[in-house]
Amino acid sequence: MKIGFIGLGNMGGPMAANLATAGHAVTGFDLTAPCPEGVTVASNAAECATDVDVLITMLPNGAILRSVANEVMPALKSGAAFLDCSTVDVESARAVADQANAADVLALDAPVSGGIGGAVAGTLTFMVGGSDAGFSLAKPLFDIMGQKSVHCGPSGNGQAAKICNNMILGATMVATCESIALADKLGLDRQALFDVVSTSSGSSWSMNTYCPAPGIGPQSPSDNDYTPGFAADLMLKDLRLSQQAAQSVDADTPMGKRATELYASFVEDEGGNGRDFSAMLPRFEKRGRT
Ligand code: NAD
Repeated sequence: MKIGFIGLGNMGGPMAANLATAGHAVTGFDLTAPCPEGVTVASNAAECATDVDVLITMLPNGAILRSVANEVMPALKSGAAFLDCSTVDVESARAVADQANAADVLALDAPVSGGIGGAVAGTLTFMVGGSDAGFSLAKPLFDIMGQKSVHCGPSGNGQAAKICNNMILGATMVATCESIALADKLGLDRQALFDVVSTSSGSSWSMNTYCPAPGIGPQSPSDNDYTPGFAADLMLKDLRLSQQAAQSVDADTPMGKRATELYASFVEDEGGNGRDFSAMLPRFEKRGRT
């Protein structure tokens, strides 16, 4: 396929490289990031979108996505697909999809989980919103860039799946960290706690796979002084998107709300910016009840 790729940062760069390595003709554009090897440089977004079968975007937020969509939509050919893999608000995803549909372009929102490691290794999970035709067209690309893709329904539902997943993750990581810090104060050995919880009803991905306590469980960012991994500021971004979405549909999400408040304090006032999101554990270790 002829593919355009806009947003060649930490995630987009390796994703574009994997598509080129698999034999697709990939043209890339970014305001600042360099083009990976095997990807042809375009001089602007519209040029990147011209004559491609699929245009992929991997951008920081919904406002930037909307502005890039305005630039590229007139350049896309009829029947092409606009595949946005960024994490953005549901409203922006649906607005861009409406704009694409009006231009006879297939729209897909397909945010990912798996982080930079998954982007490099081609093992991302894609959560996809859009039509059956769009999903079928993009499926071979998901299979190159990732190991799993789930069609979640119409446009916006990929973003909805992403923020629901990450709201669970944020709240669960907070609960896991506060439990470990409580266990410390109760004189309970961390390894013993892990051995119990990881095989009991308190188990979760946060404890079992990504344990926030160094030296316990499989290797995780805690074993590397909490170098991300999944940065706390990206978790805060996703939690804020979850609360924006909850507000828009009048959903009561008290745990998501509290997790958002805690990550906001952590990132903005407590030195959490640039650290892995599991560095909530040393934060709790240092604190008392008030
Ligand atoms: P990044 O900041 O490394 O990359 C974004 C790129 O977009 C940058 O290189 C920037 O120059 C480029 N860009 C911004 N505006 C542009 C424009 N108008 N035209 C062209 N290029 C433009 O961010 P990232 O870590 O690659 O994340 C990208 C998206 O993936 C975000 O939505 C993020 O929430 C999501 N995500 C990131 C991770 C992660 O671990 N990094 C995991 C899952 C999802």
